[in-house]
Amino acid sequence: MDVRSARPLSAGGRPATSTSAPPLLRLNNVEVRYDDVILVLRGLSLEVADGGIAALLGSNGAGKTTTLRAISGLLHVEDGEVADGSIVFDGEEIHETAAHRIVEKGVFQVLEGRRVFEHLTVRENLLAGAHARRSRGVAVEAELERVFAYFPRLAERRRQTAGHLSGGEQQMLALGRALMARPRLMLLDEPSLGLAPILVESIFEIVERINREEGVTILLVEQNARLALSVADYGYVMESGRVVLEGAAAELRANEDVKEFYLGLGDSGRRSYRDVKHYRRRKRWLS
Ligand code: ATP
Repeated sequence: MDVRSARPLSAGGRPATSTSAPPLLRLNNVEVRYDDVILVLRGLSLEVADGGIAALLGSNGAGKTTTLRAISGLLHVEDGEVADGSIVFDGEEIHETAAHRIVEKGVFQVLEGRRVFEHLTVRENLLAGAHARRSRGVAVEAELERVFAYFPRLAERRRQTAGHLSGGEQQMLALGRALMARPRLMLLDEPSLGLAPILVESIFEIVERINREEGVTILLVEQNARLALSVADYGYVMESGRVVLEGAAAELRANEDVKEFYLGLGDSGRRSYRDVKHYRRRKRWLS
């Protein structure tokens, strides 16, 4: 069975806004190549509703990080380029726009692996975030306090060097830095990676609050499908550089195929499928 056979669940609807407001972000048949030859995205299309949280799921190497890089303009750093298709943010094509201009427009990517400036303090790291979008005249101290209100642990450690923070605190700092840039769209690359479950939970609570209270639209890349679909309102599953399955998060969670192959919750036949290489490959990104 091809996973595409589960696609009818998308009949329930594209992201809620497609019938009302236009999406904040839309990728149309995007192709991405690295080094002029390696085709990684092969006609990827997706959209993210304004004010929504969309999850982008898929196994290792499916092209999730590449998708985020294509949106944020960071592909060039990796010798990659959008070879075909278009990326439209807030009604404007951005796939040929320089990365720093994309940040100024309000798109901020939180890179995988909790990238912080290790030799700078927590406060200095956050100030770097404000600088990224030239903070539009807002009083920086007030912005810092706003971020510290989300992350009390960072407030306590504001003068500490970032390299000495725990993994969870560094992930919080990476998110806080993004928040300082006052983004309209946050691209989150695997915020749960390598963190203890309790920390993952609190980080996802904060992600939800940032979405709800600050109105920040979020595109969330996650290997942990269960977690991602618990906070997202819409989800896409990628395989080999294109979307193979999409739907409202609630529909994806309830869909038998998704439960069986992506959430590991199926009632029947799970053991027998486990022996099928095809499905074992698909299940690698679940846990
Ligand atoms: P993971 O969860 O493992 O990070 P992913 O879904 O995010 O996977 P990508 O990191 O986007 O996938 O990688 C997709 C494909 O593109 C992989 O085959 C990878 O080897 C290739 N790729 C990624 N970055 C580069 C690069 N800088 N140069 C060449 N190929 C790359």
